[in-house]
Amino acid sequence: MTYSKEILTRARQRLEKAREDRQSLLTAREQEIYEKLPRVRELDKQLSGSMAKAVQAAFAKGTDAREVLEKLKAQNMALQAERKALIAAHFPAEYLDDGPICPHCEGMGYIGTQMCSCLQTLCQEELKKTISLFAAGEHTFADFRLEYYPDVRERINPRAIMSRTSDVCRRYAAEFTPNSGNLLFNGGTGLGKTFLSACIARQVAEKGYSVAYESAPRLFAKLEKDHFRPDEHSAREVAELYQSTLLIIDDLGTELTGSFTISALYALVNDRLLTGKPTIISTNLNMNEIRQRYSPQIASRLEGGYQLLPFVGQDIRVLKNK
Ligand SMILES: [Zn+2]
Repeated sequence: MTYSKEILTRARQRLEKAREDRQSLLTAREQEIYEKLPRVRELDKQLSGSMAKAVQAAFAKGTDAREVLEKLKAQNMALQAERKALIAAHFPAEYLDDGPICPHCEGMGYIGTQMCSCLQTLCQEELKKTISLFAAGEHTFADFRLEYYPDVRERINPRAIMSRTSDVCRRYAAEFTPNSGNLLFNGGTGLGKTFLSACIARQVAEKGYSVAYESAPRLFAKLEKDHFRPDEHSAREVAELYQSTLLIIDDLGTELTGSFTISALYALVNDRLLTGKPTIISTNLNMNEIRQRYSPQIASRLEGGYQLLPFVGQDIRVLKNK
């Protein structure tokens, strides 16, 4: 599994923090042991001294190095045993464990060029955090119910249309790559636009891609904040909107539209089109309304660069409460 750069960065920061925490914990424990058991400090001194002696012996001339080394080794083991017994008698078992956070990679996260299982676990956890950020985090395609859409043999059959729309969404999520195209969800309130876009967000995020999911009011609040009162935080949030592999704008048209909104939307939509980054927009507005509310330029970008997916039927929230 390949993880996005953001996920990997966050996971590596956590590993580094864990390594530092482990080091300061070990240092604190060592101090505690030395204070309570001065003999352990002596033993540690002798142990590091015997290492030096062993090196000396190995290089010394005129003596039988092997014999000296054998003797030192035996001495060393006796010292180790005494140390272990002393600590075990006075401290909990974990005080004897002074190894790195991960025995496989020494806490470095990689074994050669291979990612270690410890870093992989952290990546998985970061990924889960990202996914749970989506309000509709539990929504999956399996929960999508076509029964809510009337199966009528009139000019428009909502169930047939929604069957196709949901199929396109399913395929889009399953086959997602950073070069996937753009989708425009179009239809009334309560027809599953948010639901299906959340399903896509979840599945794409599970593949390890970065996904930014925003309702239009929140999206414009972020852009406005960064435009009029910029700081480090706002800059980061806006960079995410521009750079995330998939951007989903939910409920376009529910924000207070003004001249700033119009130019900010155009800049964002146009930039993502030019850099080839996939975007999904859901809206109650039809193309004419988009043209009037925003601008002919925005409408033409959406018409030319987005696959239009119709959402039809009756408000599911109303149907469920009947
Ligand atoms: Zn490891």
